[in-house]
Amino acid sequence: MSLSAIQFKHVSYLWDEAKAATFSEDEVALLIYRSNLLGADLRLTNYGGGNTSCKAMAKDPLTGEETEVMWVKGSGGDIGTLKKSGLAALYVDRLRSLKNVYRGIEYEDEMVELFNHCIYDLASKAPSIDTPLHGFLPFKHIDHLHPDAAIAIAAAKDGKKITEELFGGTIGWVEWQKPGFDLGLQLKQCLDENPGIRGIMLGSHGLFTWGDTAYESYINTLEVVERCASYIEDNINKNKIVFGGEKIDSLPKEDRLKQAAALAPVLRGFCSSQTKMIGHFTDDDRVLQFINSNDLDRLAPLGTSCPDHFLRTKISPLVLNLKPGENPDDVKSIKEKLSPLFVAYRKMYAGYYDTCKHSNSPAMRDANPVVILYPGVGMFTFAKDKQTARVAAEFYTNAINVMRGAEAISSYTSLPRQEAFNIEYW
Ligand SMILES: [Zn+2]
Repeated sequence: MSLSAIQFKHVSYLWDEAKAATFSEDEVALLIYRSNLLGADLRLTNYGGGNTSCKAMAKDPLTGEETEVMWVKGSGGDIGTLKKSGLAALYVDRLRSLKNVYRGIEYEDEMVELFNHCIYDLASKAPSIDTPLHGFLPFKHIDHLHPDAAIAIAAAKDGKKITEELFGGTIGWVEWQKPGFDLGLQLKQCLDENPGIRGIMLGSHGLFTWGDTAYESYINTLEVVERCASYIEDNINKNKIVFGGEKIDSLPKEDRLKQAAALAPVLRGFCSSQTKMIGHFTDDDRVLQFINSNDLDRLAPLGTSCPDHFLRTKISPLVLNLKPGENPDDVKSIKEKLSPLFVAYRKMYAGYYDTCKHSNSPAMRDANPVVILYPGVGMFTFAKDKQTARVAAEFYTNAINVMRGAEAISSYTSLPRQEAFNIEYW
């Protein structure tokens, strides 16, 4: 085990020097290798979340001259399984020259189309909206991740101050803004105003870190996330109380599963009022700690923070008003208790849509909850297929980790509803 492997407690150090040496100076191969290592540790980023890039010189097929090209993860996919076909390759100078035609934030969506004019490799994956976030920064290798531990700080009320103190000013801060061209310019501005920083925290969203080589970027990322995670754990150990302490006990494991199995078809019926849904259930310890806590009623309605999280989980979960030991055989009485909850949730969702919609917003989508929390028992998630339902559960668990961390060091803040809407109905 190398020295670096021993240093990390909260993230996995997976870099294998012998393996990396086989890529020699191939920066794109090293980018893919690093991305796969980062994506293999869910503490570093959620499934499908984040993106990575490298910039290197390559021969321009149009002129035969060396030109700077950026390879960046394209739209869709997961960095854990990223291959070359998942990358977009763009001319760096062309991408940066888009500044000259940028008409301001209200027109930033029109820039996405223009990224296609900057493509170097015609076999590129479509560039994602995060492309300018990498393009305007000068670094050779960049990681943009959604680590729960970093988002906990990014979503804490005093996140900016905590970041400043924890990293002695070496990590910059950019307030929440929807990813896009403008956020790319803001990242560059943050770097210009704070030369020498090793990364930037994106309010309510995630982390940017970088390095001159693939390895330096990898180590920088691990060190920053490790420091965020150990800061949170130190605070939790100091306060000895999480989510305001336990309000109710869980049922014993066997009873939880029995109760969940009995209730699942009823919940599925309610959730399928518009489209037939498939369910998933988990009674993971992290979920139970949250749903059995005193703070559940305060935190659950706030909703999630990182855009990736709420895109999969809807703005907030539905908390059931059933006792853990409720008799599941009395279906009629259970339905009578649950029906008003679902009616109220759909009304809340329609109200959110009506308040936040723009003249060109797509029509309202299914108003049923995706995440359903049953205190003492566990969490149900419903989606169109099993994989989507399982990922929704995974993402809400990420959101729970974020709330747990933010509450341990400060207080948790969610995204303003209008910002959430602008992402959900982009
Ligand atoms: Zn992101």
